[in-house]
This record gives sequence, C-alpha cells and structure tokens, in this order.
Amino acid sequence: TDRAAARNLGGPPAAAALLDAATRLAATLPVTPSVAFIRVGDDPASESYVRGKAKKAAELGLHSHVHALPADTTQADLHALIGTLNADHGVHGVLLQLPLPAHLNADAALACIDPRKDVDGLHPVSAGLLWQGQPGLRPCTPAGVMALLDHYQLPVAGQHAVIVGRSALVGRPLAGLLLNADATVTVAHRATPDLGAVTRRADLLIVAAGQAHLITPDMVRPGATVIDVGINRVPTDTGKARLTGDVHPDVAAVAGALTPVPGGVGPMTVAQLMMNTVQAAQNQTAHDQAAQMQADQSNGASG
Ligand code: NAD
Repeated sequence: TDRAAARNLGGPPAAAALLDAATRLAATLPVTPSVAFIRVGDDPASESYVRGKAKKAAELGLHSHVHALPADTTQADLHALIGTLNADHGVHGVLLQLPLPAHLNADAALACIDPRKDVDGLHPVSAGLLWQGQPGLRPCTPAGVMALLDHYQLPVAGQHAVIVGRSALVGRPLAGLLLNADATVTVAHRATPDLGAVTRRADLLIVAAGQAHLITPDMVRPGATVIDVGINRVPTDTGKARLTGDVHPDVAAVAGALTPVPGGVGPMTVAQLMMNTVQAAQNQTAHDQAAQMQADQSNGASG
C-alpha cells in the first residue's frame, strides 16, 4: 500500500534550540538564575521528574535547590517554606512538584507562590495574564508545544486547532496560547459526544487526554499536524512498563506531521522550565534595578 509517513516532529532538536536560547539570555543577566524545587513525600515519579529538572538546570549553569519535605508535611509548613522562598532575593523561581499527598491542597499552595517566581505558570495570576493576552510566565508543557510548533515552522495563525483535554496543566492554558497566536480554537474533553467528528475538523490536533491510543486514524484529517502530549504507561509481556501516547501509531499514515512518544513534547517541558527560570530572573533583576534607581533618585543620588 501507498502509505505516506507523517513528518516526524522530534522533541530533542527543538528542545536543544530552546535551551540554547535560554543559555544565551542567561549570559546577558547580572545574576545566575536560580530555581527552588519543592517536593513532598516519596512519589517515585515526582522524585525522578525533580531530579531531571535539577540536572538540566545544572547542565545550563543555573542554580537550583531541591527542598524535599516529608509525606506528613502540613499545609502551614508548606506555605511557610513558599513564603521563605518568595522573600529570598537569591531565588528567582519556585516550583511545587505535583501531585501532592492527598491531605494537602495543591491549589492553595500554588496560590502562595509569588507570581513573579511562578516558573510553572500555574498561579491564578499567571493564568489570568495568559487569558488576557498579557505577558507573564506560561505553563511549561503548553508553552513547550508552542515552541515545538515554532521550531518546525508549522503555521498556527488562521489554523483550526482542536485540543483534546481541558486540564489546568495542559489543555486550558494551551487554548489561551493558541488564541493569542491567532488560531481558531476548539477544546474537546471527556463529555464531548462524537469526539472524531470534532477532531476531524482540526488542521492542528493537540491531544492531552491521558488515554493510550485514544486518537485513531479515522479521527484525523489527512495532512493534519498532530501533537501528542499524552504519556501513558502500558504493561508489556516482559513486565516492564512501556511509554505510549494518546495517539495511535497508525495515525502516522494519515497525519502530515506527528510528534513521537517518548521523545516529542516531553523534552520541551523541561526546556521551557529552564527558559521560564531565566525569564523570571530577568524580570526580577530589571525590577530590582528599577527599584534601586528610584531609591537613588529619591535619595538625591546622581547617576
Ligand atoms: P488530566 O487527567 O488532568 O486531564 C485529562 C483531560 O482529558 C481531561 O480534561 C478530560 O476531560 C480529557 N479526557 C480524558 N479522557 C477523554 C476521552 N476519552 N475523550 C475526550 N477527552 C478526554 O491530564 P493532564 O494533566 O492534562 O495530562 C494529560 C496527558 O498528558 C497525560 O497522559 C499526562 O501524562 C501527559 N502530560 C505530559 C506532559 C509532558 O511533558 N509531555 C506534561 C503534562 C502531562
């Protein structure tokens, strides 16, 4: 059969370009950008994600510190640590690794982070700025998707983008970013009837549902760009889990371009976190300098 294979949108080259941009921006700053990671309990996935982020920060020459709190940490203890980090001028970014143990309220804790240090972009102020189309720190996975589209010079303006998933982490902020980039945006979710009828209308289909192989070839318009955000662990015969996306591999025969899983959107998320950390440091040093100049002026100092 005559199966045209979709263009492979690999994450690593796009992530390398984003990391390079972050490194170049960091080199222009008077300070070394610094990010604090907070992790609660001993969830192995969270431990490994935080380790990966800290390792990447070190590779870029950024400062990072991991605050590992015990599983029985109270909400007040967590808020107190965030308050300390907010007040620390040497810390430009504060990231609270989710999920938290069940007795803790993640939304309440996220809302304690100084929005200027909100490198994960999940604070309500960051979400509001995004939806108003104002500058601010953006959630890493959706911003990483936009950076990937940009790297591969895939058009967004004027395209009909369909997002599957409406989480605060991925689907919702992605809708805002795509709107700001002049796409026409449809958001589908668990309660959408006849999902295929909606996804077939997409020029740009972005799937963040957390359902292995939810999107089959019949649900994709030929030639569409398909971005697979899903990361699902499926058991194999050997007993070892394998990672797979929300998009069925056969979609490669229909789509014009497709991200692999793993090795697609995944690397973009960490790269975007590094960029957010550098941008937070840039914003805070610019703010500090402006405050200093104002103080100098009101003290009658020259220069
Ligand atoms: P979530 O569970 O919070 O949200 C899933 C969304 O998908 C919900 O809005 C739900 O309504 C929708 N959905 C679920 N099943 C559906 C179905 N059958 N039809 C239509 N819509 C459906 O998940 P999340 O945090 O947004 O993550 C989504 C996926 O992306 C997960 O697999 C997660 O592991 C992955 N993820 C990847 C990265 C990355 O770096 N690549 C980052 C974050 C999340």
